Amino acid sequence: MKALQYRTIGSAPEVVEIATPEPGPGQVRLKVTAAGVCHSDAFVMSLPEEAYIYGLPLTLGHEGAGIVDKLGDGVTGVELGASMAVYGPWGCGHCYTCAQGKENYCQRALELGITPPGLGAPGAMAEYMIVNNARHLVPLGELDPVENVSLTDAGLTPYHAIKESLGKLTPGSTAVAIGIGGLGHVGIQILRAITSATVVALDISEDKLQLARDVGAHHAFLSNDEAVEQVRTLTGGRGATAVFDFVGAQPTMDLGAKMIAMEGDQVLVGVGNGTLPVGLLDRPYESSVRAPYWGYRSELFEVLDLARVGAISVETEAFSLDDAPRAYEKLEAGTLRGRAVIVP
Ligand code: NAD
Ligand code: ZN
Ligand code: ZN
Repeated sequence: MKALQYRTIGSAPEVVEIATPEPGPGQVRLKVTAAGVCHSDAFVMSLPEEAYIYGLPLTLGHEGAGIVDKLGDGVTGVELGASMAVYGPWGCGHCYTCAQGKENYCQRALELGITPPGLGAPGAMAEYMIVNNARHLVPLGELDPVENVSLTDAGLTPYHAIKESLGKLTPGSTAVAIGIGGLGHVGIQILRAITSATVVALDISEDKLQLARDVGAHHAFLSNDEAVEQVRTLTGGRGATAVFDFVGAQPTMDLGAKMIAMEGDQVLVGVGNGTLPVGLLDRPYESSVRAPYWGYRSELFEVLDLARVGAISVETEAFSLDDAPRAYEKLEAGTLRGRAVIVP
């Protein structure tokens, strides 16, 4: 089968021919219908050899969807032919956090060598993929896989980040989203769907600010120091109730710290290399900083249900597997609107 693999540190991913995998006991094989292109892939491929921990060759794709194609021994509860989304942050399924559906924070994944597809295990950018347990499949039903595959990460990650601040996002509150790419443009829609906050979008690109307005941001400003004044003016001086930083670079972290309100949440989602001083005198009183990773299994059901009622949707640009390297080029160049999706 065809697959998109990262094979050599520092090189672009390549389309290669590899053996079609067979599902082992307890595993499920999917015929892939769609795979999303995340900026985290670019981050992984930018790492120098000494920091790279994902194994080579790596079949990319941690946002995946497919049709159940073959069941390994002992698998029950899934039907051949069903259209499924893959919950990516695989855990052990048995520890206390996994019991709560929080497999993204599994206590034993590291020790057991369990890694997400596309970030260790072979990912979804291939004609077929293996899912290690039927538990990691969430029915898509009538949802179109190409339009919705990215909800497994570009939807789930902002959803989790926002849900943990939900109690603060009351009427009259202000939420700022920084970086209106794959995650950010879905994040804005989630903020509009599940909170009554005024939503402010920041980006360095005018095109992305237009995308932000198109998907429901009340305000969209260039991401620079002027935005701090703009947010202060909008909030009567109080500042932002929550800042969701989908970039995580030093300039955006600094910006977030300057505009956060007392008791506000600064939520660092992007894998930039920024850091923040945290201490009583460094920040507005009782403001908090969180750095969440992906989301809970139960939350993926909730995100897909938000899509089913039409509250959220992903702007997608489709590419064939052969054309997948070009999707990564466009991602790096910042010229995608929304999410690139590979359709094998
Ligand atoms: P993307 O490339 O689709 O979007 C990034 C956006 O940020 C673009 O619109 C770009 O114009 C904007 N941007 C870049 N620099 C900026 C700046 N200084 N100020 C304001 N905007 C700026 O990326 P994505 O796939 O949405 O991923 C966003 C980030 O989230 C990446 O760092 C990715 O690795 C990370 N991520 C984290 C998790 C997690 O679990 N924490 C999950 C998925 C992705
Ligand atoms: Zn991702
Ligand atoms: Zn676990």
